[in-house]
Amino acid sequence: MPKYNPVTPAVLDELRTLLGEKNVTVDPDKLHTYSHDEVTESRYHHLPEVVVFPETTEQVAAVVKLANRKLIPVTPRGAGTGLACGAVPNCGGIVLSTEKMNKIIEINPDSMYMIAEAGVRTEDVQQTAKQHGLLYAGDPCSGDSCFIGGNVATNAGGNKAVKYGTTRHQVYSVEVVTPKGEITTLGARLNKSSTGYSLDQLIIGSEGTLGIITKVTLKLVPLPQHFADFLAVFPSTDSAIAFVGIMAKAGITPTTIEFMDTVAIRCSEAFLNEKLPHSDGNYLIIQIEADNEEALEDIACELDELCTNHGATTLLMLNDSAKIWKARKSFAEAVRHETLIHSNEDIVVPVDKLPEAMKRMAGICEKHGAAARTVSHAGDGNIHISILQGDVPDEQWVDVLHNIQHEIFDYIYPLGGKLSGEHGIGYKKKELMQTYTDPVELDMMRSIKLALDPNWILNPDKLFDRE
Ligand SMILES: Cc1cc2nc3c(=O)[nH]c(=O)nc-3n(C[C@H](O)[C@H](O)[C@H](O)COP(=O)(O)OP(=O)(O)OC[C@H]3O[C@@H](n4cnc5c(N)ncnc54)[C@H](O)[C@@H]3O)c2cc1C
Repeated sequence: MPKYNPVTPAVLDELRTLLGEKNVTVDPDKLHTYSHDEVTESRYHHLPEVVVFPETTEQVAAVVKLANRKLIPVTPRGAGTGLACGAVPNCGGIVLSTEKMNKIIEINPDSMYMIAEAGVRTEDVQQTAKQHGLLYAGDPCSGDSCFIGGNVATNAGGNKAVKYGTTRHQVYSVEVVTPKGEITTLGARLNKSSTGYSLDQLIIGSEGTLGIITKVTLKLVPLPQHFADFLAVFPSTDSAIAFVGIMAKAGITPTTIEFMDTVAIRCSEAFLNEKLPHSDGNYLIIQIEADNEEALEDIACELDELCTNHGATTLLMLNDSAKIWKARKSFAEAVRHETLIHSNEDIVVPVDKLPEAMKRMAGICEKHGAAARTVSHAGDGNIHISILQGDVPDEQWVDVLHNIQHEIFDYIYPLGGKLSGEHGIGYKKKELMQTYTDPVELDMMRSIKLALDPNWILNPDKLFDRE
């Protein structure tokens, strides 16, 4: 790690000149707020020296230029809903919050695109599109709080990724402040381009290490008119997860296939203080879109038959799916309510490997005396397993968790899986990233980082070490 300089009173004065007094804070309470994301364990928290709130792209660029000149680290931050400590300023320095860059600049219903600043809440993007009869298909469970810039920076997934892809598939272009403080727009509002490297795609998912996203041009699609949510209940995790592949082979492409195991359902029930239907089973929440009502009914009949033939105990067509979606979307909060000491893993495997991966992971947790709650964006092969301390004594927890993670990834990587399907690596998974990534691939990533950020000031100590 390079040796960084502290934020001196002279640097604070310069920041105030660049951004105005109101957009620079060293208030200890505020610094504390920006010392963590949604990871609750305090060993992952770190105080910034100052937090800044630029209102324009030019102000972002000016801060980054100053930071380069003075060798001070800058950590970009959206809403801080991340689960990988990506927005935590491990090296101190400046946290650059995008929360005041929160305007939707343009929505064009005819050409179906939207231009938004990085700090616009994802739900506001979705609602604005909806008001114009359009769909923004990015749909992370944290949509009511996270920012679109954070979604692009992490390549967020979510509930509609089976049909529409992850955030990178929703983006035409990004306006970026480079690690040297230059402003550029990468990508374009085109359906194809073979014009050099896809630098927009490199920035998307780079977790604030290669550039600060200030504006995004997003693809919109017509709002589906014919859709339905179903709840399929299975007696076991195995039978529920096997059904994902059965649907795919039957040619049904849902918008959503979300899995919740019985303990995860119970955990959400306890948090929401609400009884959920068939909560002794294992859920698949399935959303189907079709061209017309007749086609939708046909798919519903086919789904019903498949469920009957493959061990589902119940298939409900949900007239009001809000309760079930609330349970699914509040799962992360429900686990946090249960205990602050846990690790949310975000493993991704080829979809056909889901059944064996889920079984093996549960077995590994059990063997070590830890408890597990599992939900999954099952249609994407993305498993969110929350590993809880369970019977593990306090003083052994960190080591036991380390062993569990290594046993899991020793198994997952040969299956063709990876560490993170959507939350990113941040700081929390940096060591695992370095252990499990092919050294050639890791070296390519380091070379790119060094070429774009020679002073290593933008979100340092994330993803991988400099050496
Ligand atoms: C209850 C809950 C449910 C969740 N559900 C999902 C889900 O379904 N799918 C999913 O993918 N994630 C999910 N997440 C994780 C999280 O919400 C996403 O990672 C989200 O994209 C983070 O956005 P944010 O604005 O909060 O970013 P932050 O947490 O502030 O930052 C995340 C990372 O992006 C970087 N960053 C942020 N803004 C910028 C920017 N403008 N330019 C450059 N870098 C930037 C930060 O440096 C950091 O590395 C969930 C989290 C919670 C708490």
